[in-house]
Amino acid sequence: MRHVFSHFSEFKENIYNKHLMLFLDYDGTLTPIVDKPQRALLSKKTKQLLSDLTRQRDYTIVVITGRALKDIKRLVGIKGIIYVGNHGFEIEGPQIRFRSPVYSGFRKILRELKPEILEQVSRFKGVFLEDKGFSLSLHYRLAKRSLISEIKTAFEKSVMEYMLTHKVKTNSGKMVMEIRPPVPWDKGKAVLWLFARQKFANKAVPLLPLYIGDDITDDDAFRALRNKGIGVYVGTPKESYARFYVRNTKEVLRLFQELLRLKEGDTQCRN
Ligand SMILES: [Mg+2]
Repeated sequence: MRHVFSHFSEFKENIYNKHLMLFLDYDGTLTPIVDKPQRALLSKKTKQLLSDLTRQRDYTIVVITGRALKDIKRLVGIKGIIYVGNHGFEIEGPQIRFRSPVYSGFRKILRELKPEILEQVSRFKGVFLEDKGFSLSLHYRLAKRSLISEIKTAFEKSVMEYMLTHKVKTNSGKMVMEIRPPVPWDKGKAVLWLFARQKFANKAVPLLPLYIGDDITDDDAFRALRNKGIGVYVGTPKESYARFYVRNTKEVLRLFQELLRLKEGDTQCRN
């Protein structure tokens, strides 16, 4: 993994004269990770930069998250962006509206499962269960560190039967455990779907997907794009399919500024 700003000319070379499809994770990428998910708000500066990027004709901006679509649309609130919620199960943007067909049957399973999880975990302080429509998230960021393995065990106990009968799939992210539909669909698949769609709509222009994310679930997207685009991991470099990294959300903003500057340079060249 290479630091974007230490290898910026290499990074830039990939981008020149391409239509950039910029995929952005939300928590930990556009906002620092906070104790309560509802407090993860965009800063004024981030919002401004995102709006500026969205207005660029040859940039397409996609915000992709494990949060519910409704939630992410409210948090970002910028027109012209493509929003991907629930790890790809809900997609909405200019001329796009996609809902995974698993919805109604899976809702019933989640309704059944919810009280069973609550029964197992409600004795732990600092744990809360979020219903995101297509998925459930058990957050434990506010729980005592010493209790985390016990919380995980209780969670697993409540979902074990559902997992063994393939009614649900689970995965874990940063201080969160999730229950998802048992289908092979994830951020990576959603990214490839959007990429193919954009390519089809815009055959004349070379298209470059650039994905920025910090979490375990983003690795599906880094892997999906490894021969097609660029992955930028946010955090301390680690084993990943991402080719580049930035250290934190501040450096994500710096990258946005550079991307805007590149566009200005491009336009000047053409004039
Ligand atoms: Mg994240």
